[in-house]
Amino acid sequence: MPELPEVETVVRDLRPLLAGRTIVGVRQSKHKLRRPWLATWNANATGARVEAVRRRGKWILIDLVSREPEASDPTLRVHLGMSGQFTVVPASEPEANHVHVVFALDDGNELRLRDPRRFGSAEFLPDRVALEAEMNADLGPEPFNLGAEYFRRAVRGTARNLKAVLLDQSIVAGVGNIYADEALFRAKLHPGRAGKRVKTAECDALREAVEAVLTRAIESRGSTIRDYVGGSGLRGGFQNEHAVYGKTGEPCPACGTAITCARYAGRASHYCPLCQPSKSKVVRSKVVKSKT
Ligand SMILES: [Zn+2]
Repeated sequence: MPELPEVETVVRDLRPLLAGRTIVGVRQSKHKLRRPWLATWNANATGARVEAVRRRGKWILIDLVSREPEASDPTLRVHLGMSGQFTVVPASEPEANHVHVVFALDDGNELRLRDPRRFGSAEFLPDRVALEAEMNADLGPEPFNLGAEYFRRAVRGTARNLKAVLLDQSIVAGVGNIYADEALFRAKLHPGRAGKRVKTAECDALREAVEAVLTRAIESRGSTIRDYVGGSGLRGGFQNEHAVYGKTGEPCPACGTAITCARYAGRASHYCPLCQPSKSKVVRSKVVKSKT
């Protein structure tokens, strides 16, 4: 599933290809995405110009200027779900299977959302101010702006385990299974440790590890596990740098001990039992449910 580095890579790839372009038409397949694109939105989006391309958590936000000057500022909001690909290609390029929404652009290119598993979505949201308020109610801060005090309170104020804390989008936006495991390894913390039992210095190390892992992953254009590609169709490279994620039974890059996999917060969690000791009784914690 694309997480923050993959979504950020798509946004950075799309930005120069979309900035200033006008949408001249929209078409969709008959298959429904998780949040279906409504046919009535075709007319709303057509004629609108792209003002900005940005990311919030795992969401792609394309701010539009409506062709009606008195209309509110709309935004296209896209989620890549499990297998979404959001790319700009020449309109003449044959359409692949599983392309569900296509935005034709005024320069002869098309912005295509392809999603074989259809957990992704594209929505036309007419009121950007309302959208911001709704998203900020669901999402915590971006991981690059986490205050030390904020993060210590969030971690040490819960009996849930560290894996659950990192996956909770209302605490920190954009981290998913891959980068949670990699950050916990970097900070030498067991995924099952209860937040309230973690020391201040360990909280700080985890916050720094989240930032460092995500920064490095963005530099490598994210991780391609199955379908993921950036906005220009290129695959990621960070999968080659994973220390623990997907490495069950392989030697820890730090100490050589076999990497273990166990379920914490309902998700397969990969860790080194020597570098990331449990210290005290671990907690499993429930699956983290999130609208995002
Ligand atoms: Zn190790």
